[in-house]
Amino acid sequence: MPPLAEFIPYLERIWGSEQLTNDGKFHQELEFALSNYLNVKHLSLCSSGTTGLLLAIHSLKLTGEIITTPYSFVATSHSLLWNNLTPVFIDIDPITFNIDPQKIEAAITSKTSAILGVHCYGNPCDTKAIQLIASQYGLKVLYDAAHAFGVKTSSGSILNEGDMSVLSLHATKAFTTLEGGAIITSSAEDRGKVNTLKNFGIISETEVIDIGINGKMNEVQAAFGLLQLQYADYIMDRRKEIDRLYRTLLCDLEHIQCMDQNPDTTYNHSYFPIFFNKNCPVKRDEIYHELKQNNVFSRRYFYPLISNYEMYKNIETANPKNLPIANQVANQVLCLPIYPQLTNSEIEFIALVIRRKYHGRLQIK
Ligand SMILES: *Cc1c(COP(=O)(O)O)cnc(C)c1O
Repeated sequence: MPPLAEFIPYLERIWGSEQLTNDGKFHQELEFALSNYLNVKHLSLCSSGTTGLLLAIHSLKLTGEIITTPYSFVATSHSLLWNNLTPVFIDIDPITFNIDPQKIEAAITSKTSAILGVHCYGNPCDTKAIQLIASQYGLKVLYDAAHAFGVKTSSGSILNEGDMSVLSLHATKAFTTLEGGAIITSSAEDRGKVNTLKNFGIISETEVIDIGINGKMNEVQAAFGLLQLQYADYIMDRRKEIDRLYRTLLCDLEHIQCMDQNPDTTYNHSYFPIFFNKNCPVKRDEIYHELKQNNVFSRRYFYPLISNYEMYKNIETANPKNLPIANQVANQVLCLPIYPQLTNSEIEFIALVIRRKYHGRLQIK
């Protein structure tokens, strides 16, 4: 977190202006500053990534079935159910962990209106292939970009792909406003629609034109974002160093894989997943518990799969037979702690705990 003393002047300005929310000065400043930093044209802040998804889906007027991934945080599919839409799950690519474009066409029906992709762990989806299919069938493309703050490919910011992208600025994400989100749209007109929707659909004192919700970000959050933005480059650099250190300490273990990285992509290193392949002498959950006993809290993102939760498992496409790769990866993955304050000796300790268990088991065998 940025030093508290640096936050006080921001709070003094808010108290001085007496405007606490509703498109205040910091809100406007942060939208401007983030658009520049992320190199996007049209950005609207909102109260969370989940609200952002709800707003994007509503403003794109999606209907019927939406092709999406089961390998994500549950909010991705929840945002569809909240809009009375049916998720159609397709399997993921084993290298990027994102929806496999080759599986999209077979899932399209007369009810399909859009594709909802997730840039999992900040790995870009194959946006070209997805757009090609979407254009051919007249589908909208929405990206849950909750993991993709600052991610760039050779064509620039990944956030400019598709009709809309939604960032989460939650406290656990690479860049945060405590709770918060942002919607990146491909036109000023769409941004205007989102702005109206996040304020109840109100356009003037006497006119309400749509069923909007309260999806606004307040001034304290926006101010925190502006302060945090001054540290964004430092945060990304430190995350990159941690990623490198983990790789040197773990990548020689034959049955544990780190995520592939494409040299043309700028990553944000928001997650550090490792994958235990089926011949691994230790099971994923053994390491998860071993780390926990040593006060290291890793996360099984994403296990269980969304498609295996109670409210999704009866959907036809949620059948594990339809999603073999996603089911396999969900059982193999473990995300190790990664955040700027993590020290090198803590990282070495985490690697040591994993290696000790791994090698101990090899000797018993
Ligand atoms: C965090 C996250 C969300 C939800 O964002 P909130 O800001 O917590 O509402 C949605 N999708 C994915 C993939 C996430 O990781």
